[in-house]
Amino acid sequence: MSKLNPRQREAVDYIDGPLLVLAGAGSGKTSVITRKIAYMVNHCNYKAANIAAVTFTNKAAREMKERVGQLIKGPASRGLTVSTFHNLGLTIIRKEHKVLGYKAGFSIFDQQDAQALIKDLLIQQHGGDSDQAEAIQHRISNWKNDMVSPAQAIAQADGPADILSATAYEHYQRALKAYNALDFDDLILIPVQLFLGQPEVLEKWQRKIRYMLVDEYQDTNITQYLLVKLIVGDRGKLTVVGDDDQSIYAWRGARPENMVQLQTDYPQLKIIKLEQNYRSTARILKAANQVIAHNPHVFDKSLWSDLGYGDPIRILRCRNEEVECERVVTEILDHKLRNNTEFCDYAILYRGNHQSRLLELKLQHHQVPYNLTGGTSFFSRHEIKDIMAYLKLIINTDDDNAFLRLINTPRRKIGAATLEGLGTYATQHDISMYTACNEQGLEQQVGDAGVKRLREFTYWFDKVRENCQGEKPIWAIREMIADIDYEAWLHQNSASSATAEKRYANVNILIESLENTLAKIDEDDNNIETAISKLVLRDLMERQEEEDEASGKVQLMTLHASKGLEFPHVYIIGMEEELLPHRSSIEEDNIEEERRLCYVGITRAKRSLTLTLCAKRKQFGEMLDCAPSRFLDELPYDDIVWEGGPEQDASLAKERGKQTLASLKNLFAD
Ligand code: ATP
Ligand code: MG
Repeated sequence: MSKLNPRQREAVDYIDGPLLVLAGAGSGKTSVITRKIAYMVNHCNYKAANIAAVTFTNKAAREMKERVGQLIKGPASRGLTVSTFHNLGLTIIRKEHKVLGYKAGFSIFDQQDAQALIKDLLIQQHGGDSDQAEAIQHRISNWKNDMVSPAQAIAQADGPADILSATAYEHYQRALKAYNALDFDDLILIPVQLFLGQPEVLEKWQRKIRYMLVDEYQDTNITQYLLVKLIVGDRGKLTVVGDDDQSIYAWRGARPENMVQLQTDYPQLKIIKLEQNYRSTARILKAANQVIAHNPHVFDKSLWSDLGYGDPIRILRCRNEEVECERVVTEILDHKLRNNTEFCDYAILYRGNHQSRLLELKLQHHQVPYNLTGGTSFFSRHEIKDIMAYLKLIINTDDDNAFLRLINTPRRKIGAATLEGLGTYATQHDISMYTACNEQGLEQQVGDAGVKRLREFTYWFDKVRENCQGEKPIWAIREMIADIDYEAWLHQNSASSATAEKRYANVNILIESLENTLAKIDEDDNNIETAISKLVLRDLMERQEEEDEASGKVQLMTLHASKGLEFPHVYIIGMEEELLPHRSSIEEDNIEEERRLCYVGITRAKRSLTLTLCAKRKQFGEMLDCAPSRFLDELPYDDIVWEGGPEQDASLAKERGKQTLASLKNLFAD
């Protein structure tokens, strides 16, 4: 195990009061958190169950858990919370659902579900135009993250568009509550509201969580900030680590100023800065420092590394996207062969999810194993969404969205008019659609034939739910899938039988995953409901990331998803204007956040860094010329090697000449 440097040691040992570790990339912030947890448990008589560490992504939480697991052995680590903010919120809501007025087994709406609901509401209640659903969803999310209630949003609304969003927000909240459902933002907002409104509940949680540690603090939004502040209370038992240069979620409401706020909230705050980077070669670090130096700074940081100067940073200029992806993949193969490395030593990072498609094809073509984080995920596949709808309905028959998804999958000859009648009846009586199926008065709204079919369905489904409460829930679920003959349905609805088989195999993977989840749950909570809700949350948070799947594979992910991670060899593709920095950020003049994103990308690399860009790229169905990203100009010129196809050399040299001249001019101007 590595030896902590004196400042890291100080940060680990200091448990008397609130602490902020403020430091650049790769300086061991996350290591301080993991080592501190171990120190507290092993040397300070803290029970693991009284410690909670939170971060942002499942991948990061898992890595942290692994690192802690190596430091605390055996039962001493029992009950330790190392999770994402959302998971912590979910735990609180699950334990307090009665106080909160939710039925057990509430559903969690993912982005798609939430958007579908907003669309419906726009059509039903606001006279059409569901096109705005996405924008309104974003707006609602911002309101929630800023703790603005629907009533406040309506009161503050200015102009028709604002009023539409705010009233949609009100209806949306009402519908969610009626469906016994929560969305993503609620997972944090609701615990905060609960703690603010009910001090005795807060005190209970304060007794449970006696020390909190937060990684990537610069990316907390208002509700996350409040959640931490409330739990910590005036005891000040808190360690947060962060780097303002890695704040990349402003568009989702993150407020790096929360770091500054700490000094006001805790006047006794201790601040420790770390300056040695243990991750990257000096050259990679120099490049990162030089790029980020173009942003204004609140905190001054200087990072150094003694891992050697390292190889030059390469910039590959490619004719088009096809060449770019092919080049990266063949380079990795070649590099691996010559350096005797593993595929998992390589990561390919990009700005937008769409950039992974072509890469995947090339990787498949060259038979390179890879793991894609995010993007079109396992859980967004149709077959998975179908079966997930059944699972969601098992734990919550009030989940109208799930009900609507599965009621005609496979076909049950229940028509749109029947469903509409059912929906109207359910709304009028303030009950769920599932419950409405068995109400006496339904016949007046829905014809007899329709009612009969609906009741056939609920009769069957009630049996399924009953079976799930028995000894063999997984078996009951498999039987349900056989009952609806889902395999045949897939064959009828897939382009080829090979596709149908593949899709059916996915269903099996899902059920196996549920089985594994069930097996891992602690005894007191061991039931199928908990297992399904865990699966639903995983679906929401991490999409297709399968545990352990990453080993031995090239890692593909967006720059955003790469935060906190590290890889020996990193490729960042698409270093072009309008891609990085992204077009929308250029339009909104928000280059600084894009630069931080670039900084995050560069600092993921331990030993080598390669950047690629295209001369042309297909966008909006057209081949468009691309300009090199401005961030390339901010790299240290002497540490870069440009490589391009022969046909580009001449123009490239000329372009570089011009750019160098411009950089020199700037230098002297300063
Ligand atoms: P980021 O800002 O990217 O999240 P970080 O500050 O959290 O980075 P870590 O991931 O904790 O940095 O550490 C970076 C690398 O340095 C890890 O591989 C870690 O094991 C290693 N490291 C941290 N501290 C030391 C140390 N004192 N001696 C040797 N290696 C160390
Ligand atoms: Mg970290």
